[in-house]
Amino acid sequence: MRIAIIGAGASGMAAAITAAASGRHQVLLFERQARVGRKLLATGNGRCNLSNRQTRLERYHGTSTAFAAPALEAFPPEKVLDFFSTLGLYTVTEADGRVYPYSDQANSVVDVLRFGLNRRNIELHTATEIVSARRDSEGFHLRDQSGTVWDAERLIVACGGAAGTKLGGGLSGYQLLRSLGHHCTKLYPSLVQLRTETELVRAMKGIRANASLRLTLHGSLLAAAKGEVQFTEYGVSGPAVFELSRAAATAEDTVLHLDLLPDCREEELLSSLCIRISRFPGLLAEDLLTGILHNRLGRMVVKACGVGLNTPLPALSWKELTEIVKLCRDFPLRVTGNQGMDGAQVTAGGIVTKEFDPETLQSRIVPGLYAAGEVLDIDGDCGGFNLQWAWASGLLAGQLKQTGGK
Ligand SMILES: Cc1cc2nc3c(=O)[nH]c(=O)nc-3n(C[C@H](O)[C@H](O)[C@H](O)COP(=O)(O)OP(=O)(O)OC[C@H]3O[C@@H](n4cnc5c(N)ncnc54)[C@H](O)[C@@H]3O)c2cc1C
Repeated sequence: MRIAIIGAGASGMAAAITAAASGRHQVLLFERQARVGRKLLATGNGRCNLSNRQTRLERYHGTSTAFAAPALEAFPPEKVLDFFSTLGLYTVTEADGRVYPYSDQANSVVDVLRFGLNRRNIELHTATEIVSARRDSEGFHLRDQSGTVWDAERLIVACGGAAGTKLGGGLSGYQLLRSLGHHCTKLYPSLVQLRTETELVRAMKGIRANASLRLTLHGSLLAAAKGEVQFTEYGVSGPAVFELSRAAATAEDTVLHLDLLPDCREEELLSSLCIRISRFPGLLAEDLLTGILHNRLGRMVVKACGVGLNTPLPALSWKELTEIVKLCRDFPLRVTGNQGMDGAQVTAGGIVTKEFDPETLQSRIVPGLYAAGEVLDIDGDCGGFNLQWAWASGLLAGQLKQTGGK
């Protein structure tokens, strides 16, 4: 059988290697970029966090996360790592379950996948963008950007999502599947940097802090996270911010509350500030939080309370002091947006999953059509969960199982 796979990213390559393994099929793999796995090279800051041993359904989001269960059960991290091991990849698992290549280089992952694609029954066509797909009684007919038509009896769409635009993210997969009769939910960027009011934050650019974060909407808690926050000229970034970003991107008028001293009790902080004032009465307010927070962060908190940085410490009122302590524990930043699909690592939303059989990933609308990876309405948390989904769904789709059958 001729199998066409659109997209040589994570899920497409996993699907191609699986589909070709029996030797019974001829696999045509199309990639619009000049080389395969370009996005993969950028993952995990160039280290590729390829899976997470603590994969559970709760780490996934979408209209129906249960849709992801059969693929993740058929190909849990252990099975995915077996697949990579047969390709010759050594991996290492960190304490939090994140899996990386032993070399610490994302290109090792892409390299072994390239080895896996190097078989007589896989035809790889790079720099070939599939611009349209049609199905008739004879099968699928794909047209590329040069007008060439490619025929196949089965089609796997593994075009990825809209996130990471500069690395190959785009709308192509959604458009192709829609043209074949499928539907798409609204798309949002996720695992993305947040834009906030910048008046005070801009001067913090480049600072990293360990903080607890809460995201609220009209006072109600939407999401919480703890970890590193990076201040940028437009707002905030970093792993803890990424964790909240899906909730922030899908709602409006949210407020991010930063607890800059999450492991410290307010009374303790207040008493150390009182000691500082009595011991060093010659200091100014700009140094009130020196030694406690990053200097620039400390000055931001003092300024945010409306206290002049040149105010002598003994001139601070009790009200100002308690307000400063309160702001250290709850610094509110109004979220004004996010860095969009360009800055996002994953797309929230996608092709409606109830139109596919979760046991096979075959379309319920178009016989012989399969989809895998980010193009579907499933996205994961930060930590290797998105690639885990891409491999698991790619490996399942590549088995080309018939719904309700073999
Ligand atoms: C900067 C960044 C860092 C990330 N880090 C991590 C991480 O460490 N861990 C993790 O789990 N996830 C990470 N992700 C998310 C992860 O990379 C994606 O979720 C995953 O790659 C999705 O796999 P996919 O196969 O669905 O799509 P992709 O890997 O994006 O592959 C889709 C491929 O299809 C090609 N394509 C699209 N349309 C067409 C067409 N019409 N014709 C031909 N080819 C086409 C694209 O060029 C692309 O190569 C990161 C994402 C980004 C952007």
